[in-house]
Amino acid sequence: MRKHIYIAYTGGTIGMRKLQYGYAPERGYLEQQMATMPELHDATIPAYTIHEYDELLDSANMMPAHWTLIAEDIERNYQDYDGFIVLHGTDTMAYTASALAFMLQHLAKPVILTGSQIPLCEVRNDARENIITALMIAADYPVPEVCLFFGSKLLRGCRAVKVSATGLEAFDSPNFPPLGIAGVNISIKHHLVLPTPTPPDVKLSIGKIGDHVVAALRIFPGISGKMIENILHPPLKGLVLEAYGVGNGPEQNTGFIKALKDATDRGVVIVDTTQCLYGTVAIQEYATGSALAEAGVISGYDMTAEAALTKLFYLFSRGYASEQVKQLMQQNLRGEMTN
Ligand code: ASP
Repeated sequence: MRKHIYIAYTGGTIGMRKLQYGYAPERGYLEQQMATMPELHDATIPAYTIHEYDELLDSANMMPAHWTLIAEDIERNYQDYDGFIVLHGTDTMAYTASALAFMLQHLAKPVILTGSQIPLCEVRNDARENIITALMIAADYPVPEVCLFFGSKLLRGCRAVKVSATGLEAFDSPNFPPLGIAGVNISIKHHLVLPTPTPPDVKLSIGKIGDHVVAALRIFPGISGKMIENILHPPLKGLVLEAYGVGNGPEQNTGFIKALKDATDRGVVIVDTTQCLYGTVAIQEYATGSALAEAGVISGYDMTAEAALTKLFYLFSRGYASEQVKQLMQQNLRGEMTN
């Protein structure tokens, strides 16, 4: 039987049209263009249904509430389709991919986010290949996780980061190998793919993300205690601290360390991640990391800042207390970390 894929079209460059004031999404335009592509009517391509969202967003405008809308949309249509594609802007695609990976609990079907750097309406574009390959993977390959497909790589969603503002290989997952490569053939590394949830009657459920005050901060030489203290003020519940190297910070800056300690004493969860693209936090390796650990900061290991932030949102939305959030932040839930 021909497979049927649900396409949630949320916005982004992929479906934009050149208007007087620049590229912008236009209602119905993407679907119209796809309908005229002969290759999408080929027998090797699954049937698909496009659901265009009421508000087509440049993904720079995505909010946590939009992640929940997408998860609810997938949940509503879950039984009727073999796989799901989320067409999304590239700017915050890695955040949405990470958020969906946490929110879609017991996922047993492929959910693939994709988009493009050049709109489908341009003669030379990357949208065509990304759509075609994403459709084929969603229909024919058993990858029961939230993935991001772009260029030639199928990546685990909660490991993905946008690495190029202009290149057509715009995403990578530096700390985890691609789940698949689309070259002459599509090759999936099945040993890396998460197992299908068992027993088979475990049903998809969604953990909605609600309004919780969490933040991310990239530290820099010269950061003052006052600055970080201002960020850590209530109602903040969690902070992703993007620190140096293996998770180091300015231990000689007593104001900075005190602000962290005061916040963790109040129950704020502060997660140490690295500004480096590759490698992991090893919080006890240097005095500059140990000082953070002594101030109550926990290790985010090799999680991306995107995964750490969306995981904080997800766990606080589950209603966990600060101690449980700390514990779960250091546990691998969806393949987002190696520890
Ligand atoms: N600004 C666009 C977006 O993220 C960029 C893109 O889609 O490539 O929606």
